[in-house]
Amino acid sequence: MYALQDVSKRFGTTQALRSLTLSLPEGRTTVLLGPSGCGKSTLIRLLNGLLHPDTGRVLYAGKPLPTEAKALLELRHRVGYALQGGGLFPHLSGEGNLTLMARHLRWPEARIRERRDLLVELTRFPREALGRYPAQLSGGQRQRVALMRALMLDPEVLLLDEPLGALDPLVRHELQADLRSIFARLRKTVVLVTHDLAEAAFLGDDIVLMREGQVVQQGRLVDLEQRPADPFVTRFIQAQRWASTSESSPAPEGAPT
Ligand code: ADP
Ligand code: MG
Repeated sequence: MYALQDVSKRFGTTQALRSLTLSLPEGRTTVLLGPSGCGKSTLIRLLNGLLHPDTGRVLYAGKPLPTEAKALLELRHRVGYALQGGGLFPHLSGEGNLTLMARHLRWPEARIRERRDLLVELTRFPREALGRYPAQLSGGQRQRVALMRALMLDPEVLLLDEPLGALDPLVRHELQADLRSIFARLRKTVVLVTHDLAEAAFLGDDIVLMREGQVVQQGRLVDLEQRPADPFVTRFIQAQRWASTSESSPAPEGAPT
């Protein structure tokens, strides 16, 4: 679905992505994994055209991403995106947030309601909370609204940047299970960012482990474990395992940013 060829991106003196080459298969869930600052969010933002690469190309369905504003906007309607932290508009209710784009595109009311009802059911969002503002929702509910908003236009691709960051462990666990069944039901191309190995293995068909703006290895968890492409792969896995067994300590590499 996506192919990145030799993509670099720099912010001032920070080289966020370094000559990165990667392909992301259609209809599967690919998880971008890696320590904080390794370029995961930058990569996601390149995929929906929010950022343009300094060098290299990003191909979507075999064609370079458009640069012209109108074509880019059309692309974004086909690519659902939930940014890190949810990114809900605080002055709009849950319902207002999730239906915003559809209203902007002048969907008929009946179609909006139908889609909303389907998404409420899909994400198991409490319907009576739709009228609340983000500040009146729990962290888990906000994430569900962000997910519904990303799915509202029924996109081909779903880009989720740390959709489970900053949630307490129980809520996180519940949402992980829900996300997995949602991905299985929808069979969309999903690209999801996390810094948590267990979450990556649970949700992803494929893991892309990144470090300092480059891909270290792409594969399933067993590939990373049994055929590490680099000593960093083993170190990263061990550090995460150690963190998850030593109670209450966060992962040494990769707090959410
Ligand atoms: P991750 O999501 O893996 O934590 P990011 O992609 O957000 O990493 O950031 C990669 C690097 O690029 C970091 O060093 C970050 O500080 C820097 N960076 C990202 N976006 C910007 C920006 N808009 N301006 C300046 N630096 C940025
Ligand atoms: Mg990030």
